[in-house]
Order: sequence, then C-alpha cells, then structure tokens
Amino acid sequence: MSRRRQIYEGKAKILYEGPEPGTLIQYFKDDATAFNAQKKGTISGKGVLNNRISEHVFTLLGNIGVPTHFIRRLNMREQLIRQVEIIPIEVVVRNVAAGSISKRLGIEEGTQLPRTIIEYYYKDDALGDPMVADEHIACFGWASQEEMHDIADMAIRVNDFLCGLFAGIGIRLVDFKLEFGRLWDNDFSRVILADEISPDGCRLWDMTSGEKLDKDRFRLDLGGEVEAYQEIARRLGLLPEGDTTVLDLEKHRRRRGK
Ligand code: UDP
Repeated sequence: MSRRRQIYEGKAKILYEGPEPGTLIQYFKDDATAFNAQKKGTISGKGVLNNRISEHVFTLLGNIGVPTHFIRRLNMREQLIRQVEIIPIEVVVRNVAAGSISKRLGIEEGTQLPRTIIEYYYKDDALGDPMVADEHIACFGWASQEEMHDIADMAIRVNDFLCGLFAGIGIRLVDFKLEFGRLWDNDFSRVILADEISPDGCRLWDMTSGEKLDKDRFRLDLGGEVEAYQEIARRLGLLPEGDTTVLDLEKHRRRRGK
C-alpha cells in the first residue's frame, strides 16, 4: 500500500500527493464502472495496461506539441502528473456513430459520420453527466470562451493524431472522451490535456473484423476485457509479441498480497 496522502479517489484512478508541489501521482486501479456506475466490476490487470497505454499516447501527443499533465511513468500502476484544476466538462469526440449518439438520434452503430462531432457533458455523477451546449458552459462559468476555444482546437488535434495512430495498427477510432485542466502560474492559467487516454474512454474497433477492443466488452458483457486491452497495447508495440510479462508480474505481485 502506498503511504502517500490520498487527494482523491475516482472510479478507475486514485490521486496521491506528489513528491514536489504542483505534482500528483496518478494510480490506475482495476475497477471498472459503466452506466453511471450502476454496473461495477474488476478487470484484473486493466490498471497496468491503461497506465502503459496512456503514458504512450500522452508522450506522443506531447511530442507533437499538445500540452498534457503527464510527466513520467513511475511504476506499473503509477505515473507522475502535473496538478491541474480539472474543468468539469467531459469532451467526447466522435468519428463513427456508436453508444449514446446512436441511441439518442437513432443512427445505426458503425455509421461513419460525415464530419467529426464534439460534444460536451457536465461532469456530475449525481446528474448522470448530462450533455450540455457551449451556452451552458459559458452561462454557468464552467470554462471561459477562450478556454473552450483552446479545448475544441486541442480535441481536433488529438483526434487527427489518434485516428492516424490507430489506423496504423488496424484500429478504427470510433469515439473517445477527453478531460482538460487548468495549469496555474501565479494569476494566469492555461488549459492542458489531463486524465488518461486508454481503452476505458475510447471505442476501438478492429478494422477488419469489427471486434470491439475497449470498455464496451465490459459494458455489454462480451468477456475478454483484459485480452482486448492487451491487444491494443501489443499493437502499439508496448508488449512484445506473445509477451505477457507485464500481466504475469502483476499476477505474481497480487498473489504475494503486495
Ligand atoms: N465515455 C467515457 N466516460 C463517460 C462517458 C463516455 O469515457 O463517462 C467515453 C466512452 O467510452 C465512449 C465515448 O466517451 O468512447 C462516447 O460515449 P457515449 O456518449 O456513447 O456514452 P456511453 O455509450 O459510453 O454511455
């Protein structure tokens, strides 16, 4: 168990105080929730894979100039991040119809959208994260117009980059969720990408078979969750062919009760 002071516990991650002011440690749990936490479960090994996948994606995004909270991975389940003030908006980017947009608007799952859609959801579990418009965000002061401009620009850049990254490994990036935070420097703040990018918050379909390689396996009781996450990590080059060392080590660690 970590002895550091816990700052916050969410559904899939815990935040601990970091080693220096302005830093935090982000710990990836194996817990999974869906349908506004009405469905709960554990996907053994998920946290290890998400830590690794998110590290990889945030590093690549940093390399193309997208500012992120990621500093470095510390161990199998933890990464050092910059402390930000989370903007209470979930930003969903959609390339293909699936999930809530299919249900709400009656668009068949798998329909390629003629243009990318960005949607905003107000982060509030008690309200079930309702969808909101720019108008609500401005009216209630959740983010400024300037911040929303930066957020939309970054979301499109992230989408363009990720579409290419995943297409290169035979994956269709259907949709995904991003979160942003304010990084304060005295009286000034700028918006940077926060949270994580992993199969927990993306829909990733195999381009040939259409197989779902993301959290929908859990949501829809399809089974094979960890294998799907592992397949994403493997295709990204994060697990050498046939190598399950990361997960084996993790199992070993858990068996010893550490
Ligand atoms: N998503 C997420 N957290 C949420 C809601 C959605 O990470 O609280 C992700 C989800 O994994 C999917 C995308 O955002 O990749 C769009 O989700 P959608 O609105 O279709 O909702 P869902 O079908 O997941 O309820």
